[in-house]
Amino acid sequence: MQAHDTKLFINGEWRPALSGETIEVVNPATGRRIGAVAKAAIEDLDLALSAAERSFLAWKVSSPLERSKIMQRAAQLLRERAGEISELMSAEQGKPLVQSRAEAMSGADIIEWFAEEGRRSYGRVIPSRVPGVTQLTVKEAVGPVAAFTPWNFPINQVVRKVSAALAAGCSIIVKAPEETPASPAALIRCFADAGIPAGVLNLVYGDPAQISEYLIPHPVIRKISFTGSTPVGKILAGIAGQHMKRATMELGGHAPVLVFDDADVDVAAATLAATKFRNAGQVCVSPTRFLVQSAVADQFIDNFVTRAEAMKVGPATDPANDMGPLANERRIPALERMIGDAVDRGAKLRTGGRRVGNEGWFFEPTVLTDVPVDAVIMNEEPFGPVAVINRFDNDDDAFAEANRLAYGLAAYAWTGSSARAQRLQDQIQSGMLTINHVGLGLPEVPFGGINDSGMGTEGGADALDAYLQTRFITRLG
Ligand code: NAD
Repeated sequence: MQAHDTKLFINGEWRPALSGETIEVVNPATGRRIGAVAKAAIEDLDLALSAAERSFLAWKVSSPLERSKIMQRAAQLLRERAGEISELMSAEQGKPLVQSRAEAMSGADIIEWFAEEGRRSYGRVIPSRVPGVTQLTVKEAVGPVAAFTPWNFPINQVVRKVSAALAAGCSIIVKAPEETPASPAALIRCFADAGIPAGVLNLVYGDPAQISEYLIPHPVIRKISFTGSTPVGKILAGIAGQHMKRATMELGGHAPVLVFDDADVDVAAATLAATKFRNAGQVCVSPTRFLVQSAVADQFIDNFVTRAEAMKVGPATDPANDMGPLANERRIPALERMIGDAVDRGAKLRTGGRRVGNEGWFFEPTVLTDVPVDAVIMNEEPFGPVAVINRFDNDDDAFAEANRLAYGLAAYAWTGSSARAQRLQDQIQSGMLTINHVGLGLPEVPFGGINDSGMGTEGGADALDAYLQTRFITRLG
């Protein structure tokens, strides 16, 4: 058995699919097979559903302190195992080891934060109008959860959903990514080894559409959480709506970046280039549509291009590399099409634009400038290492362009003016806005989008609320 051979975790047991079927796992740095993951079918899902249903009854009424202690132990195990887990993650997902390790370590922070927050999910006593009447609200776990997570952050996407669900008292079935199965399984193992009761936490892989179409309408499931693309999110939210299930949707983005002429332009370029090429740009909050005020545009572009060209692209096994391969082969033709379309419409390709070598799925850090708004890349998420940099003259034009798309996940801005910062705060339509630094994704702050970027949040106290329902009780005497 290879390190990347991954089983299902159902009712407290690691086991192959009942059918024995598996899906191949490939290293994106080489294109070669490194293992296989068990492929669940309906019969496996039925076992996970009955485990989640049965275990929910006891987990829901267990004390928040007891739940918190198990979670704290899981966080400690995750920290202890971060080295080996980051090797699994980098081999199957491609990101540099230092980024995988940071993801595992921040996963431990997220578990700890929800472990503590779960102890503060209080109801209220509402003063009554009538003597002798007691009015109470109680918050209780909504029920078994079905969660669907993607391959770009194999641990981070799972740990947010699992931690909030467990802290609230929900049981959960996670469908983790088939492309990157071993690192999320290692995370689940931390919870298992920390003593999570059998059935409370279940892990499956398989055909994503088959699993979501079966689990979301299933009467046992009461809450859905999905991270992935906007088109798939709309389908899943539709199924959830038909069955009156609560849903958190963390979907695509096309983050605008506004750089004004009163900003510290060199600091902005350095910070944003590092952010753009992190995880090869396969990040829902990746800065994408740069809008730079004309007076400082050349300075910003030159600095940004220099930094893009200095990025060392190569396998995670070499610690000198800054950027790994794309996680999936299909992103290469997708990026080539978007870049070709932009250039055909008159954009300037300042650097990059091509696949690197012919082994693995490496792609050059790419900068396009002067891109017309009708180019595909100005409207669809590139989800790769491509920055699009355009110029603007007056603030109104920049605000209009920033708000032009239906997406509304993250937005970035750099300005030395507090009046502009206030206007950005008031007018930019995004779930998250980060001004003069990059400060997104901490456990205690909201993480989520508005409009086509989804609904709900996966960070902060509101994230816990998504797994709780409020009930009202009034009593005379
Ligand atoms: P995709 O839309 O095919 O898949 C995205 C994710 O959704 C994958 O993990 C996939 O397994 C899952 N998925 C697809 N169909 C599903 C279904 N019917 N039910 C349940 N899960 C389903 O796209 P892709 O080629 O894997 O990734 C590229 C696009 O996905 C990007 O453009 C980006 O918009 C989006 N994406 C977003 C995030 C994010 O963090 N929000 C993460 C990964 C991918």
